[in-house]
Amino acid sequence: MTLRLNRIVLWLFCLLCLVSVPVLAAAFVPTASLAVLTYHDIGMPEVGYCISRERFLSHLNALQQEGYTFLPLEAVGLFLEGRYVPPSKAVVLTFDDGYASFYQEVYPILRERAIPAAVFLITGDVGRGRRLTWAQIREMERDPGVHIRFYAHAHNGHELIDTDGDKVPDTRFYAGRQWLAKEGRRETTEEYRERIRKDLRAARKAIETHLGHASPYFAVPGSGWSRVLARVAQEEGYRYLFAPTWGKFVQRGWSPQRLPRLDAGSIRPDGKAVTPEQLLNLLRSRDLRGNLNRTCSRGLLP
Ligand SMILES: [Zn+2]
Repeated sequence: MTLRLNRIVLWLFCLLCLVSVPVLAAAFVPTASLAVLTYHDIGMPEVGYCISRERFLSHLNALQQEGYTFLPLEAVGLFLEGRYVPPSKAVVLTFDDGYASFYQEVYPILRERAIPAAVFLITGDVGRGRRLTWAQIREMERDPGVHIRFYAHAHNGHELIDTDGDKVPDTRFYAGRQWLAKEGRRETTEEYRERIRKDLRAARKAIETHLGHASPYFAVPGSGWSRVLARVAQEEGYRYLFAPTWGKFVQRGWSPQRLPRLDAGSIRPDGKAVTPEQLLNLLRSRDLRGNLNRTCSRGLLP
């Protein structure tokens, strides 16, 4: 009798193992992800946030040869809302600050290859110095041959501010309470909130006025993210915030108020620009997870 009972317990144990293996496996499969690449200026010399046209082309060539799909930025919103599952090999191209080189160097390449992209503008700088003009921006947005969209990055709030009265700018405009030198004190949280609200609103209104559409996407300058910013940005109509230092790939289920990007367009600490091989290696670390998840999540999304 005891022997039979032991057998039953053993069979039950085996059955439990068989059932739990796929359950446990599913629990450890990471969610689908999407890579959003960041570039800034294109030209020579390769320094800071500027890489050469040839370097940028080598990235595109490598991605195309490896079979990557280029998605418009708007795919990120659909993905996060659960209305779209990106292919495992997919990237989104974004460009920050609105350099004129985007019109001169990047736009013709994207147009020729029908590659979509998004540009995050410092709206207060449009038309100044080495920046794009509104006429160029409108021309690119209205081009039926390629999908290029422009969203907000800041109006004037791109610079650093002093937060402790030592006259050394130390924090991003949007990230913290500013030192008010004349009054010898820091802003209150309410003053901070209203300062950034003013800039976020000015950037949104510039996009609406000059381009006739909203800016649900916003790239936070530098690493200047804060909870106050996330809340105020949401109130001002920015639904998806990119904060570059947080991680690597956008994943389903993550907060749309703190989305990561991959910096592909700046000079690395070793003094060199990102090579096509380095870029592909970085993306490959994601491919496996994407493939696994695509198999498992098929049917879960509409
Ligand atoms: Zn910037």
